[in-house]
Amino acid sequence: MDRATCEGLDRASPLAHCRGRFSLPEGLLYFNGNSLGALPKTTAADIDSVVREEWGRGLVESWLDADWFFLARRAGDAIAPLIGASAGEVVCADSTSVNLFKLAASLLRADRGRRTVVTERGSFPTDVYILEGLVDLFDGRFDLVLAEPEAIVGSIDGDTALVVLTHVNFRTGAMHDMAAIAAHCRAHGVPAIWDLSHSAGAVPLALNRWGVEYAVGCTYKFLNGGPGAPAYVYMATHAVAAHQPVVTGWFGHADQFGFEDRYRAREDIGKCLVGTPPVLSLRAVLHGVRCFDGVAMEDVAAGSRSLSELLVRLADERLARYGFALASPREPAKRGSQVSFAHPEAYAVSRALRAAGVVVDFRSPDVLRFGIAPLYTRHVDVWDAVDALARIMASEGWTPHTTATPDPVT
Ligand SMILES: *Cc1c(COP(=O)(O)O)cnc(C)c1O
Repeated sequence: MDRATCEGLDRASPLAHCRGRFSLPEGLLYFNGNSLGALPKTTAADIDSVVREEWGRGLVESWLDADWFFLARRAGDAIAPLIGASAGEVVCADSTSVNLFKLAASLLRADRGRRTVVTERGSFPTDVYILEGLVDLFDGRFDLVLAEPEAIVGSIDGDTALVVLTHVNFRTGAMHDMAAIAAHCRAHGVPAIWDLSHSAGAVPLALNRWGVEYAVGCTYKFLNGGPGAPAYVYMATHAVAAHQPVVTGWFGHADQFGFEDRYRAREDIGKCLVGTPPVLSLRAVLHGVRCFDGVAMEDVAAGSRSLSELLVRLADERLARYGFALASPREPAKRGSQVSFAHPEAYAVSRALRAAGVVVDFRSPDVLRFGIAPLYTRHVDVWDAVDALARIMASEGWTPHTTATPDPVT
């Protein structure tokens, strides 16, 4: 495999035109689209006009005149086709952590006497922390089970009150068979919430077809919504009807501007809204999601797979000798859109790579993570990144961690 072959793959890619939708710094090799997606070219001018025109001139009238009031549902409807959901099943609000709390609290409150809440050991910490808080809140009614990845299905039975799983593991990129686990949960009558933060916008998702009832996810990773952009909640249509909100704010009220004394939930997915939405960030979410306009998710998935396989292959050829061990599943179908390598000096190596213009991240304790964002990551980028890393290792141009203190954000 040489660089010219990579250039040929990029030219032939059905996604070749998508990179032009983003404003990426010249010369930078960016492999953190799974942490903070790149800036879409249309976002900045629109945010400028939201601030100067809609806010500055339109003032409070913009809630209706500029459609601010309906943005959360519009953004949800824009995300829906990317995850295999229908219009009216997704709404954008709050953070992923808070949305998980909202759904899990409601499902646990409705439970009739089952005991376990099953999640995965090594899952993204916020998911586990939120469940810990809830188990505490319910005062001993539930036991939190942190199952090893291979023991998850075996831990779900008739005594399970709730399952919470991240589709793609943030550290290893390992991807669950969502359709199969969802079917197992259904067979036992167990509600399951899926965290799509590391899968939406990068791998094909068919929530409706797979019979998934509940999901949450964030918009600032592969969906390019910008730092701190609001997250989303998905509920299958029948689950929307049954859902009883626990966090009962005025934006979820059936007659918000009736200012009634008591709460009455809306009938639609808007019942998941709580308070006033972050309009600037929601507008940015629309731009991030629009980068997928006219793009088939099958092409995104094929692009992700081709780029990831290239990275694995080049790493075998050029990096294994320096002690990099593949920390992601080798089988492409079991991997999301990232490739991780374990290395004892992963942190120091990640800093040396950044200094060389290759942005990857370090995940404690020893993982170097390459996120693959198929809309803008190119095969030549993968080739150049592996080349840069091989050169660093050959010259030992990195500082062992004994002299490097991790930054507060890695
Ligand atoms: C990034 C990520 C989150 C983010 O949660 P916030 O509440 O938006 O900070 C949650 N879950 C997973 C699996 C993630 O990867």
